[in-house]
Amino acid sequence: MRLLIQGGHIVNEGRVQDGDIVVEDGIISAISPHTSDFDEVIDATGCYVLPGIIDDHVHFREPGLTDKADIDTESQAAAAGGVTSYFDMPNCNPQTTTLKALEDKFALARQKSHVNYSFFYGATNDNADSFAQLPASRIPGIKLFMGSSTGNMLVDKQQALERIFKTCKLPLMAHCEDTDIINRNLAEAKSAWGDDPPVNLHAMIRSEEACLASSRKAVELAKQYGTRLHVAHVSTAEELELFTACRDLVATKITAEVCVGHLFFSQLDHERLGAKIKVNPAIKTPVDQFLLREALNDGRISVVATDHAPHLLSQKEGGCVRAASGMPMIQFSLVTMLELVDAGVLTIQRLVELMCHNPARLFGVQQRGFLRQGYHADIAIVRPKSPWTVTKDCILSKCGWSPLEGHTFNWQVVRTLCNGRSVYADGKVDSTYIGEEIAFRH
Ligand SMILES: [Zn+2]
Repeated sequence: MRLLIQGGHIVNEGRVQDGDIVVEDGIISAISPHTSDFDEVIDATGCYVLPGIIDDHVHFREPGLTDKADIDTESQAAAAGGVTSYFDMPNCNPQTTTLKALEDKFALARQKSHVNYSFFYGATNDNADSFAQLPASRIPGIKLFMGSSTGNMLVDKQQALERIFKTCKLPLMAHCEDTDIINRNLAEAKSAWGDDPPVNLHAMIRSEEACLASSRKAVELAKQYGTRLHVAHVSTAEELELFTACRDLVATKITAEVCVGHLFFSQLDHERLGAKIKVNPAIKTPVDQFLLREALNDGRISVVATDHAPHLLSQKEGGCVRAASGMPMIQFSLVTMLELVDAGVLTIQRLVELMCHNPARLFGVQQRGFLRQGYHADIAIVRPKSPWTVTKDCILSKCGWSPLEGHTFNWQVVRTLCNGRSVYADGKVDSTYIGEEIAFRH
């Protein structure tokens, strides 16, 4: 089976070039050839051809929380959004904090994931002994919650933290928010506003101070123990100072991720969207938003991900205490970032660095994340200047809502290829297709 993707603007490794891509048996066999003799042609004229997005931070809620989302529905949303690989987080039920739970999750994905998959292993106060037995070539790394978030996986004992940073030989991805500071802020807000303070106070409770204190602690521990640390969803301007502009992601020990929600929204949007955009860490001020956007270009931020974390709309009612934290995003992350390209925030080449190349480099993903001969044909084809509006009926996430409903995007994902298969085309996901387990070299 020889497939030709013809006539697109190919965005890869810092360049935009017009050309063709030949795919044979799921693998890119040539780029920019003058070729004949193929079985199928995909016309990409007027489109941009990108490596499929690698989302290093999602919560597909399976097993155990499948009223909100599951691997089947969320991987379909991923496919429709141009996302061909994802790393799912361990705060499901049971938590992915034992080797058995990890194996069980792989078994689920083999049945029902429509794009490529892997899973973070979760650190707890007492499971560092199991790190040495982890199948390193099958997982991106270990996830650590240094601050309580959804799922009650908080590691709060100093000794346990030290042990984790010392023992972890894989990338350690940390959610950083200081629980003591949050609890103090929450108590103050409650005394002024009652038991469920209004949601626009969320960023004052989960404050800049809480983020900075915890991120600083993580960076200090990583320096002390030589840990490969990736700080998840940086949300404040202050935290950016902890990261140096890095040129070599393989050699760099300390990196940062920012999430689409923190780039696209500011806390002022609570006015319009209420608790729909309540996430942890909180979406902060327009100044933070502006400076996070700036840091995309100078290398202090290495990865853009979603922290796709669906809840039922009914669970998003209430204020700072009652409304759940987290929102769906994976189906619209690429088009949202392309909107920032149109706004002049970053180039499309830089977008590809942050969403495709860098997650592959940072976690040692094998043969994905680039459009290169011999690599898996994970490809997103997007069309500019094709306005469309997000409505409920186009949402594939199980929760059935999006903070972007009513928003008009100018870019459209027209096709997603996963291992050479058109898993999304003509507005439809091919739900008969099952993605592959991602391989890593750490
Ligand atoms: Zn998360």
